[in-house]
Amino acid sequence: MKLCMIGTGYVGLVSGTCFADLGNTVYCVDKDKNKISKLNKCKPTIYEPGLEELITKNFKSGRLKFTSNVREAVEKSDLIFICVGTPTKKNSQDVELKYVFSAINEIVKLAKSKKILITKSTVPIGTGDKIEKIIKRKRKKNIEVISNPEFLREGEAVRDFRFPDRIVVGSNNPKIFKIVKKLYQPLLNKGAKFFTTSRRGSELIKYASNAFLATKITFINELANLCEKTGINIEDISLGIGSDSRIGSRFLRAGPAYGGSCFPKDTKGLITTGDKYKTNLSLVKAVIKSNENRKKIHTERIKKILGTFKNKKIAFLGVTFKPNTDDMRDSVSLKMIPFICKSGAHVSYYDPTGEKKEFKNLKRCKFTNNIKDNCKGADLIILHTDWDEFKTLEFKKINKNKKFIIYDLRNLYNLKEMKNKKIKYFSIGRTSFSN
Ligand code: NAD
Repeated sequence: MKLCMIGTGYVGLVSGTCFADLGNTVYCVDKDKNKISKLNKCKPTIYEPGLEELITKNFKSGRLKFTSNVREAVEKSDLIFICVGTPTKKNSQDVELKYVFSAINEIVKLAKSKKILITKSTVPIGTGDKIEKIIKRKRKKNIEVISNPEFLREGEAVRDFRFPDRIVVGSNNPKIFKIVKKLYQPLLNKGAKFFTTSRRGSELIKYASNAFLATKITFINELANLCEKTGINIEDISLGIGSDSRIGSRFLRAGPAYGGSCFPKDTKGLITTGDKYKTNLSLVKAVIKSNENRKKIHTERIKKILGTFKNKKIAFLGVTFKPNTDDMRDSVSLKMIPFICKSGAHVSYYDPTGEKKEFKNLKRCKFTNNIKDNCKGADLIILHTDWDEFKTLEFKKINKNKKFIIYDLRNLYNLKEMKNKKIKYFSIGRTSFSN
């Protein structure tokens, strides 16, 4: 099949590359010419394990093309996927849809033959209906609008695309399901479910999935607070409740707070949709509030651990919202690091994906490009993101400051080991050792 992805970010680039790998001809379009120029040299614009090899393979085969020429891509494609960003609007909780509608207006203007327009971007209920209205207004008859939300996770995106749990397709025209099913058939053959519903239903499934996962994380995070007060180990609770198949074990790991490019914006997007339809989604509202409060809990705890922030040296290990991605969107570190610096501490950070523009102009904050230098002389080491390379660090060898403390936001380290090594160690929802 001939496809085009409008927007070559995390979703457009990964899904476009993987569709090409399934034998389709794919035009990945982006208005950012820098991105396109890098990709045309087979240099990935995002950090995503396994992606570079796939891009190179499919680019060289001629099936995967990168371009800023929307006209050519639209003319030559039968299926057009919208993969542009849908962030939260500034100063509101509403979804910013200007990138979607600007792309749609351009496509509708250019489309001359029969096209299927597919929203892969996460969009609120009724966005497909609005797109259809634009098409009708422009008197274009040959364009179908369907919803096909994306569920891949950054850091595991290639694997998730290749082995999805389900493919959700929403259309008010059942004839379209057959065409989309054909596109996904290689993945369905491996066991993925093909789930069809109305277009609005499909739009809601995406928001509901993310809100549910965010709720699960927030639930276990609140229980971690209780465990800290009662001397119970949160990991026992996660195992104890997660082994009930009605609950399920995933997304029950206590940690800093949820972040990233999806959960924060999609929970907010869902409640504004609820408000629009006069439905109070009070549970999701509470989840957002609890998650926001959680970021403060960590900085308050750090102050308690250290006594004061003034002139303390604090080293962060990892700053992205999760491992195996370079994505900083809504990472907890974005709240923690500026607060800590403003409070008088000196922060150094190391991240496997390099220096971050978000911290460049921050006073008393510096990037260090290796773990050892980053931790040297630190009063407190904060394990913020659980990359594999942090799993087996010999802290006593890399930090000569004898009184250093570790605050592990991901429960990456073994409690007993830390006790045996006589390291002052704090983690999430587990007993702390102050040797
Ligand atoms: P992104 O910001 O990484 O990428 C969006 C890209 O679209 C950018 O490169 C931008 O330059 C480009 N763009 C914007 N307008 C354009 C236009 N008119 N023409 C061509 N290119 C244009 O965003 P993302 O993380 O890939 O997310 C895209 C959508 O997918 C969002 O709705 C998001 O909620 C959803 N989603 C994201 C993930 C994820 O893990 N990132 C997972 C599932 C769903």
